[in-house]
Amino acid sequence: MILLPIYNTLILPNTRVYFQTEDFKEVTNHEPTQGSRVLFLMEKEKTAPEDLDENSFYPIGVRGEITEVNDQGYVAIQTNNRVRLNDIYKVADQTFDFSLTRLNDIDDLDSATEAQKVEGIKEAILEFSENTPWGRDAKNFIQGFDSLEQMIVTASPWLTITNEERYHLLEIDSRAKRAEAIEKIMYEFSETAQVQNDAARAQQEDYRKLYKEQAIKKQLDYLQKELDDMHPENVTDIRRMEMRIEESGMNEDARKEAEKALNRLKQEGNNSPEYGMLYDYLDFMTSLAWRKEASEKIDLKEAEAVLDREHFGLEKIKRRIIQQIAVMNLKKQQSGSILLFVGAPGTGKTSIGKSIADALHRKYVRVSLGGVRDEADIRGHRRTYIGAMPGRIMDGIKKSGVSNPVMVLDEVDKLSSSYNGDPASALLEVLDPEQNSTFTDHYMNVPYDLSDVLFVCTANTMDTIPEPLLDRMEVIRFSGYTASDKLQIAKQHLLPKAMESMGITKDMLEVPDPTIEEIISGYTMESGVRGLKNRLDTLCRSVAVHVEQDDDKKVTVLPEDLSELLDMQPIRHGRKLTETKPGIVTGLAWTSAGGEILFIETLFTKGQGKTIITGQLGDVMKESAQIAISIVKSMFPEKEELFEENDLHIHVPEGAVPKDGPSAGITLTTALASLVTGKKVDPTVGMTGEVSLRGVVTAIGGLPEKLMAAARAGLKTIYIPEENIRDLKDVPQEVKDQLQIIGVKEVSDVLKANNILDA
Ligand code: ADP
Repeated sequence: MILLPIYNTLILPNTRVYFQTEDFKEVTNHEPTQGSRVLFLMEKEKTAPEDLDENSFYPIGVRGEITEVNDQGYVAIQTNNRVRLNDIYKVADQTFDFSLTRLNDIDDLDSATEAQKVEGIKEAILEFSENTPWGRDAKNFIQGFDSLEQMIVTASPWLTITNEERYHLLEIDSRAKRAEAIEKIMYEFSETAQVQNDAARAQQEDYRKLYKEQAIKKQLDYLQKELDDMHPENVTDIRRMEMRIEESGMNEDARKEAEKALNRLKQEGNNSPEYGMLYDYLDFMTSLAWRKEASEKIDLKEAEAVLDREHFGLEKIKRRIIQQIAVMNLKKQQSGSILLFVGAPGTGKTSIGKSIADALHRKYVRVSLGGVRDEADIRGHRRTYIGAMPGRIMDGIKKSGVSNPVMVLDEVDKLSSSYNGDPASALLEVLDPEQNSTFTDHYMNVPYDLSDVLFVCTANTMDTIPEPLLDRMEVIRFSGYTASDKLQIAKQHLLPKAMESMGITKDMLEVPDPTIEEIISGYTMESGVRGLKNRLDTLCRSVAVHVEQDDDKKVTVLPEDLSELLDMQPIRHGRKLTETKPGIVTGLAWTSAGGEILFIETLFTKGQGKTIITGQLGDVMKESAQIAISIVKSMFPEKEELFEENDLHIHVPEGAVPKDGPSAGITLTTALASLVTGKKVDPTVGMTGEVSLRGVVTAIGGLPEKLMAAARAGLKTIYIPEENIRDLKDVPQEVKDQLQIIGVKEVSDVLKANNILDA
């Protein structure tokens, strides 16, 4: 008898089972022949044939006989009765000796009941199999079952019962009980199969729906596109945005973000607030230029001509700009060092930025940073905020419509930090070539490449610009214009532009040079030309009325007409004093509005040695005043009691708006010395310089602006610190010609030269 070990296979008496011939050979190590008897024994655990031993098997098995070995590679075995294994010995691999006892089933199942049960199960299986792809083919097969055992043995490969459960069926002696167990398993099988089948069907149904939906959508899209092409005016917002995203040339990240917003837009109703926000966002994103512009080689001669066309003078500055363009040409780059133009208002800082853009054939955009306190002004608000907006930088990029504009960041000195973050550090990121290729505006939430933007910054003063920001930039000073510069600027640029914008032609108006000079000296007091421009605009507007009323008569404006035409009195402040008294001295100050002259007035009044300081003085100036008092007391010990018996009053009249700096030291000391000695200082004398307690005069800043102011005011002699003599190279010759400039080492030099102290 051939031992046929089985695992997880169901075998029962009186059934027909099939094996592949190859499998049969492998597990039995025997050639199958018709009529051979076999013994099925179930393994307790899955074991390789050569490892099987006496303990590998459950004690109950089934006997059978090979009824057929067919050409298609199958062995058919008809089982008959169950047996109990009494003894088993392993003789060799896959060869065992054994003794068996026949086990009879208890035949307590009448055939009518069995037939009924068989029918019931068949029905259940047929019912669900109808909806399966194999149901039709299996129908006859299923109909052919006539015993419960045969049914379950056939279904065995699909049953999800364990090896033990299978063995348990074999253990049962009572046919009625076995039938019940089989019934239970078969119904369970049919139910789970049914459920699985239903689930699969439902899923299939879903898939079908999905495919259908996608197909319909595609069709719709296609038809919508056709319609849109026919009627571009009717394109829906969403479709328009889709087209804009498509055409924008966005990078992968940006496109993803935009599509996310677009998908949300599709889900929102037209009048939800969210809709507006998403629409604005997409509008912004798709308005930005995402494509890189090719860099262009710039002809330097032509660039120079463009710079000269709009701006008079500024030679040094123009030269520096041309250098920058040359470097950009050589490196084939669209950006380079970041220039910081520092100077008083109206000196041409912003407008030359525009000329740079023209010279480079690039778009120009101006971004004002004045009053920016919030980091979000630079970097944008996150979109979760109500009313979120992009920052000013990205807004500027959008306005420019290109990815490589010349961007003038105006008034970087007016940035201030607040509890809402530090805008300067955000700006640092914008300007840093290492970081600005991935600048991320919070509103956009995706990086934008700013590396092709040419940044130019402007400021009135460097004092308030944070150090790290200043380090990034190359400072170029605009020190202001002399009177003759201004005359040329007025004649060549400001007046023609003013006339053109008011529709006044050359044969209607003549403004002779002396008139312009009078406007410069009598109606403006500034380093730049903004006031001058305003006066000329006003002049042209007034003249327009005259021309209108009185055709064909050419108006020639004379200096004496100015007060009426400009509707203002000539400016007095900022001019030298005409008369003076001891204790009054003219100083020079530098402010963010340019150079200024200022008068320091001192006076003794009856009192007990108090010092009163009034006017436009900051803390540093107050310290200078204390130093001046000490110097004067030590220089004129015999006047000591004047300070004890009187109160000293120091005043800097309104109008002069000095910066809080120490450069008034020399003026304060001279004024006090003049007061205590009763000796007057000539009103055409001016001075600037810091003074130490030892009376040593040290260097000051803003010399060109200060000397220009002195010349403007009509001063004649100016004392400056000896150390500053070398800075005179930056002062226009015209100014130097008008002034006698004297370098001093000690404050006593000034006092001696003005006969306050004996030489
Ligand atoms: P800033 O930015 O320094 O305050 P702007 O550039 O706004 O000054 O200049 C103010 C006005 O003066 C502009 O109309 C500008 O064209 C004119 N302007 C300034 N400097 C010159 C110059 N050198 N030549 C011609 N016009 C000038």
